[in-house]
Amino acid sequence: MKRTHRIAVVCGLIGIISGCSTLNDQQWYQETKEASVKAADTVTDTTSKTFKRMQHYLAEKDVLQTFHDAGEHSEAAVLDVLHKSKLHAGANTSKATPHGTGTAPPTKGQPTSAAVPQKYAGNLRWPVDAGIVSSEFGARWGKQHKGIDIAADAGEPVYAIADADVIYAGDGLRGYGNVVILRHDAQMTSLYAHNSELKVHQGDHVTQGTLISLLGNTGHSTGPHVHFEIREGDTAINPRTLLPPSKLAEAGGQRLGIASARN
Ligand SMILES: [Zn+2]
Repeated sequence: MKRTHRIAVVCGLIGIISGCSTLNDQQWYQETKEASVKAADTVTDTTSKTFKRMQHYLAEKDVLQTFHDAGEHSEAAVLDVLHKSKLHAGANTSKATPHGTGTAPPTKGQPTSAAVPQKYAGNLRWPVDAGIVSSEFGARWGKQHKGIDIAADAGEPVYAIADADVIYAGDGLRGYGNVVILRHDAQMTSLYAHNSELKVHQGDHVTQGTLISLLGNTGHSTGPHVHFEIREGDTAINPRTLLPPSKLAEAGGQRLGIASARN
């Protein structure tokens, strides 16, 4: 078949579904191929970008490990948020009590725990895909550091470690800067501080891996990092005891993910 005939046949078939005023088979092939390669590359792209960021952070490790909290965080302000949200945990039935004065239906901007289970049974993920742990949980400056600090470039995406209700998103907790607090069940909450930008609002429900903020340098902070806490009730616990091992993902035989500045 001559080429001009082949173009006409292909064009005729394609024309049925897409119109074919200017399309020839070469163009069609090229566009289809590009679209399919683009789709297939999305996952690879993400992994490869994470790998590149991690390599960059490892190269800058000496600088990044100087980025951490600069001073006090208001414990009282955090406990106030936790206690207020606890009042709602498991109480949202959306039905009034027999006395007619019961739980009000959730209103926008108010804490709600309708979707929070009594006990979260799933796994946790790290709050960022790449970064350097610049300060561990535990004794620091004669006090207890209630989280771990993970340093990275400002704008590094920060993700929900598990399904949760957003019980706080704002900059009103002294020292924490722009901070998000998530409630995962009746006891467990997580906190992400010093963000440059918040991507969720109080009252939102998020699933594991939802982008909740962009890492930053707000509040009492020496440089871009996320101060990250996990609490059971009022008590902060070492996130490393609950999170997966610190090397997160694996691709092309090379391990990626969070690195400790001590490595
Ligand atoms: Zn910290």
